[in-house]
Amino acid sequence: MRIIVSATAVEITYGYPNVYFNHFETIILFADDYYSTITGQYHEGEVNAAGAIVLAWRSFLSGFSDLADGRNLAIHEMAHALRLTNIVDNEEYDFIDR
Ligand SMILES: [Zn+2]
Repeated sequence: MRIIVSATAVEITYGYPNVYFNHFETIILFADDYYSTITGQYHEGEVNAAGAIVLAWRSFLSGFSDLADGRNLAIHEMAHALRLTNIVDNEEYDFIDR
């Protein structure tokens, strides 16, 4: 699980030198969709500015089952992490050309 999640982070940061998602110190994996007491809904994943990436493993894996359907939770959440890494105050800030 660690290798596959890490590989997804590498996939989306590939080509950005010195971008390692240092802002994100916590990755939480749930077996399946999880209930958020904040939104009152079930989630497949989320990324928050406090530094956590949260993923439902079943949805994570299903994103790789059809590479042509345009749905991939892992890439989706890592894209959120990439965007936040670029805008929150951290040592990797502001690497995307505006
Ligand atoms: Zn999203």
